Amino acid sequence: MAVAENWKERTSELDYRNQAFIDNEYVDAASGETFECISPIDGQVLTQIASCDAEDIDRAVRAARTSFESGAWADLPAAKRKRVLFKFADLIAAHADELALLETLDMGKPISSSRREDIPGVAGTVRWFAEAIDKIYDEISPADGKGLGLITREPLGVVGAVVPWNFPLLMAAWKFAPALAAGNSIVIKPAEQSPLTALRVAELAAEAGLPQGVFNVVPGFGTSAGQALGRHMDVDALAFTGSTEVGKLFLKYSGESNMKIISLECGGKSPNIIMEDTEDLAVAAQESALGIFYNSGQVCVAASRLLVHENVREAFLEKVAEFGTKMVPGDPLNSTTKLGSMVDENQMNRVLSYIEKGKSEGAKLSLGGSQVRQNSGGYYIEPTIFDQVSNDMTIAREEIFGPVLSTITFKNPEEALQIANDTVYGLRANVWTSNVNTAHKMAKALKAGTVNVNTTDGGGITMPFGGYKQSGFGRDSSLHAFDKYCQLKSTYIRIT
Ligand code: NAD
Repeated sequence: MAVAENWKERTSELDYRNQAFIDNEYVDAASGETFECISPIDGQVLTQIASCDAEDIDRAVRAARTSFESGAWADLPAAKRKRVLFKFADLIAAHADELALLETLDMGKPISSSRREDIPGVAGTVRWFAEAIDKIYDEISPADGKGLGLITREPLGVVGAVVPWNFPLLMAAWKFAPALAAGNSIVIKPAEQSPLTALRVAELAAEAGLPQGVFNVVPGFGTSAGQALGRHMDVDALAFTGSTEVGKLFLKYSGESNMKIISLECGGKSPNIIMEDTEDLAVAAQESALGIFYNSGQVCVAASRLLVHENVREAFLEKVAEFGTKMVPGDPLNSTTKLGSMVDENQMNRVLSYIEKGKSEGAKLSLGGSQVRQNSGGYYIEPTIFDQVSNDMTIAREEIFGPVLSTITFKNPEEALQIANDTVYGLRANVWTSNVNTAHKMAKALKAGTVNVNTTDGGGITMPFGGYKQSGFGRDSSLHAFDKYCQLKSTYIRIT
């Protein structure tokens, strides 16, 4: 893929979309309020964003409901819906440079990541779910022998999506692609830290041919716009990615409003287990370093707890540190930079306070631990490794969401499993071993939605993504994602 190099100069060409997108047009917040959109790269204000609240959410939900009930999208033949979504994916791909630049400026991730991974991932997600539309068949049940039992999927109606800032457009696409493919209308509330790409992509959706009111984006804060969407009486389902704390609020909002269907993807504290018989420690070390430092650790499946067998510990940690040392934070707009900034000053300070906590609770800081590049005006933290961590320390229990690795040593597989599962989370677990028996045994015993063997990242869009325990419930990715956005209807036809 040819990637442009002159990213800095190209920022002057950008035209920020900073209003809500409702019923296929950009509009100010009803209150007229705005908030500052700050780039974490240098702390500069990029633009003022419409600060939407309950009134704007209601307007968007009404537009989504009207479009849904009109059947303009939901009742289109599958092949036609597919064509529109293919065009949408093509437009996203055609605007990849612009969208990648917006993502990097808004969120601070390296341009190489947003241009090569995030935006192609968004176009690929839309295309994947579009392709599925006319490949999914409904069912006929054996019923009672006296009639015909039809089991059909129907779109739910209006879907709300409240999404985070770590992969701003990709996490939105994981919701909107299957929701739209199933025939729903959607209202997206992007994170206040990173609304720019969702707002820009909304007009591409309209250009692709999504009818009025099907695709709406309402920016604003969680406590106002996010809560209003969660509590709205005419939203049929709400898909959330973010913290466990806020995920629990959505269950409450649902219970106190219309019992809308909730699905939650709420992060984790993933164990990455290095068994004594790991075939290639160098490969495992490199992936382990990437598994925690990629995106500056702001990844819900970050391999943040390194569980290493005592007999390989020393050699392994040396290698992880070697890779970590090479991942120097740099200017996100430079195409060779591997590690960008944290999403904002708050998140940087939050991560730095966890580092202090690790030190004060007795873990040994063996790499990094500080803010860097202060002169840039942005918010950068170097790769940080703690050794001699015990699983009851705060840095082993809480999701830090930063480039901070906690290393715990174990003596045997039973102990590794006990430590790995001793967490409130259950999003992902990784195990490294050359023994196929150990691989199966560990994979079965690990309580996580995804278990990787001999990698920290595998499967892609073809496999369900979601959590056990307080990592949430419901699955993104794969055909199972449709389960969240469809009703199952049973129709029985008596044959006389
Ligand atoms: P968050 O849960 O506060 O925010 C996620 C989304 O929820 C945002 O769109 C936000 O505006 C909205 N929101 C916030 N408070 C709300 C409320 N009271 N009602 C309705 N909506 C609300 O996450 P954050 O503040 O962006 O980050 C805090 C922590 O969450 C992170 O440090 C990390 O631990 C976790 N996180 C996890 C993921 C993930 O992918 N699982 C992503 C981002 C953050």
